[in-house]
Amino acid sequence: MQIYADNAATTKTRASAIEAMIPYFRETFGNPSSLNTPGQLAKEALTDARTRLAKILNSDPSEIYFTSGGSESDNQAINSAAIAGAKKGKKHIISSAFEHHAVLHTLKNLEKQGFEVTLLDVHKNGMIHLEELEAAIRPDTALVTIMFANNEIGSIQPITEIGKLCREKGITFHTDAVQAVGHIDVDVQSHNVDMLSFSAHKFGGPKGIGALYCKKGIPLSNLIEGGAQERNKRAGTENLPAIVGMATALEEATSEMKELNPKLTLLRDKLIKGLLKVPHSILNGDPKKRLPGNVHVCFEGIEGEALLLMLDEKGIYASSGSACTSGSLDPSHVLLAIGHPHAIAHGSLRLSLSDNITEQEIDYMIQEIPKVVAYLRNMSPVWKDLVTGKKDFMI
Ligand SMILES: *Cc1c(COP(=O)(O)O)cnc(C)c1O
Repeated sequence: MQIYADNAATTKTRASAIEAMIPYFRETFGNPSSLNTPGQLAKEALTDARTRLAKILNSDPSEIYFTSGGSESDNQAINSAAIAGAKKGKKHIISSAFEHHAVLHTLKNLEKQGFEVTLLDVHKNGMIHLEELEAAIRPDTALVTIMFANNEIGSIQPITEIGKLCREKGITFHTDAVQAVGHIDVDVQSHNVDMLSFSAHKFGGPKGIGALYCKKGIPLSNLIEGGAQERNKRAGTENLPAIVGMATALEEATSEMKELNPKLTLLRDKLIKGLLKVPHSILNGDPKKRLPGNVHVCFEGIEGEALLLMLDEKGIYASSGSACTSGSLDPSHVLLAIGHPHAIAHGSLRLSLSDNITEQEIDYMIQEIPKVVAYLRNMSPVWKDLVTGKKDFMI
């Protein structure tokens, strides 16, 4: 059996998206900025894709800016809000400790430029507290940026309430919704968001394409100088095939969500229940307010890397957390943010399920993963210390 359970890192491109893209390589390959017929046909397709995407998010097409993906959208949103804030003497930004590095590293750069950043605690269940957000707001706060759903532990933040609070206080609110768009309901109007990032390859679209929603009236700066594409906010010839693929993938993902999510949630919870039968294991992230496809657990006394390698041999393709941090031996900043000591954070396993996961596959994982954990524990000196009482169990 082969189970791809790393969909939070990237997804398989949907057949419908691939089909939709092909004509834009073969026939309608003109440059949307060209006034000739091929260019104008390409421009029409660009407008059409923008309109389709805007409709799904409940925004206006003029509020959608195409980018190269989630990272670029996050960078552009945060840097734009910082530039706009600085013009008014506002140089304070609020975010959370478990954001994606595209957000955290952008904030680090801004700190070097004299901005002050407050990172909210995400507490044990991976949730920020609204009262703490409210208490952190200052007269010079220029931006609040808090992710919609976490890419490692899957917890879903109270975005609507955060947006409402920011609107009352007149503060720009950006959310990294890369894990949410195409997976759960996202509506920029009802969530009160000013800026929202998303990326096609997280919902069955092609890689290297994404977009930033930026509400009318919210100032947006360009990061890339050049031509007048994207209303002067993002230069460079548009990646039309990918843009069309993204629109098609999001339409399909959104149309399937309603029927799919209850089924996926049941399978997710079955898997969680099965894995938590392993002694000294813990679920990370909120049990209810979590993405339908996210399972994230820590097993005490083992190394997550060894677990991943052994699961790979059994055809279970998982991850220990975010793809960006794997390869380094540092434990995940997300797991440290929710209060895990290094020893626990190292024994982590993320299974991000695909839309078409089957019950058989869930049963296979429930059967095989505990066996591998037991095998690794048997060989682990740390585990020996724990069972002989030399060290105390932490979970
Ligand atoms: C994947 C991801 C990103 C980065 O998106 P890219 O399109 O790969 O640049 C940003 N934020 C979150 C939460 C993600 O999961």
